[in-house]
Amino acid sequence: MAAPELFDRIVIGAGIVGLATAKALLEGQGGNLVLVEAEDRPAAHQTGNNSGVIHAGLYYRPGSMKATLCATGREALVEYCQAKSISYERCGKLVVATQPEELPRLDELIRRGEANGLTGIVRLGPEGLKEHEPHVVGIGGLFVPATGIVNYRDVAAAMLQDVRAAGGDVRLQCPAGAIRREGGTWIVTTPNGEVSAPHLIACAGVQADRVARRAGTRPDCSMVPFRGEYHVLRPEREHLVRNLIYPVPDPRFPFLGVHFTRMAKGGVEAGPNAVLALHRNGYRWRDVSLRDTLDAALTPALWRMGLRYWRTGFGEVHRSLSKRAFAKALQRLVPEITAQDLRPGGAGVRAQALDADGTLADDFRITKAPGAFHVLSAPSPAATASLAIGEHIAREAKAHFATS
Ligand SMILES: Cc1cc2nc3c(=O)[nH]c(=O)nc-3n(C[C@H](O)[C@H](O)[C@H](O)COP(=O)(O)OP(=O)(O)OC[C@H]3O[C@@H](n4cnc5c(N)ncnc54)[C@H](O)[C@@H]3O)c2cc1C
Repeated sequence: MAAPELFDRIVIGAGIVGLATAKALLEGQGGNLVLVEAEDRPAAHQTGNNSGVIHAGLYYRPGSMKATLCATGREALVEYCQAKSISYERCGKLVVATQPEELPRLDELIRRGEANGLTGIVRLGPEGLKEHEPHVVGIGGLFVPATGIVNYRDVAAAMLQDVRAAGGDVRLQCPAGAIRREGGTWIVTTPNGEVSAPHLIACAGVQADRVARRAGTRPDCSMVPFRGEYHVLRPEREHLVRNLIYPVPDPRFPFLGVHFTRMAKGGVEAGPNAVLALHRNGYRWRDVSLRDTLDAALTPALWRMGLRYWRTGFGEVHRSLSKRAFAKALQRLVPEITAQDLRPGGAGVRAQALDADGTLADDFRITKAPGAFHVLSAPSPAATASLAIGEHIAREAKAHFATS
């Protein structure tokens, strides 16, 4: 058998987190690097199937990784789009309260947003909402000017070019299989042979827990795939939505609730919902993997979560199977929407990490092992924050790899 090819670092996964990390490592520290990606293109999973929102950072607990990296990442992303001529728009978003109990939550969102460095948030009454979005009906709301839209596939494509330009060896259709460490060197088996390096950074999205385990790390959370399904508005009804319209999020859940998003590539999306997927790459109900389903079924944390949220879960399944129920959820924000206005859109599968007690892991989670980093959980707004996450990992890696 041929000797493994030797690099300075191995990065697993060409989603936006792996790409941004490879870019930061190469541009900041030089050396060489191989990035292995299982699919035949970058951004094939979460990154390329998300809502395309540049999040402002309104929701996140001040001081959390999400809050700090979203704030710096958002501005870095906008600068990057300008530098690379990637089309994006800072259109702002509306958060709409429809129930009296949601009004105090708006105040909490302003407090959080301001603690996270946001400026220019405007508290609106019912008339103010209509000035921004004439078809919205609500009892109050917020306008958040820092929010924007972009197509993350374009961003990932530009990052991939940067990685290659900086000397990175990006290998597509090259899944990382077995991973072992021999005498301080990581050796990763791929279909084209083995690659080796003293340092490994795994950014494998929904496969993060499995990749970590294969590398001998016991992750402190389990990964459960949640499909987010979208509908798109028929072109003749797109005028009902100017930009982005969100409900007030339920603080018990990490998902934001179905909302409207004008897309950078054109059109208006409605969604996503959140249903348990029976395949880690399960974009449709009929995508079922016995291994993934068994894995989920044998995860005690999922049962604990299910006991807590079964009612919400049934609601999500109902909205997934019934366009009318989906439309009803949207009518809370824009009452004129009907089921006839909706056409099936795409879907994305969220990599949702669960703690052992069934709590939905909220913040980013990046763990260290000797000579390695594992991005165990990079949920939304990780696409917005990607450039900052990449810089963060590169900085941490410099210190960690000097000692391990
Ligand atoms: C429905 C939905 C909507 C969202 N909306 C937004 C939004 O509007 N704004 C925002 O900021 N964030 C949003 N997010 C979150 C954002 O998309 C993710 O946080 C981000 O894309 C995570 O990037 P990633 O690189 O970690 O994961 P991924 O993009 O999933 O990439 C992981 C990569 O690893 C590869 N991989 C896995 N295993 C292996 C292996 N063994 N060998 C080689 N490669 C492997 C996969 O093929 C994949 O390409 C959304 C997510 C979803 C699902």
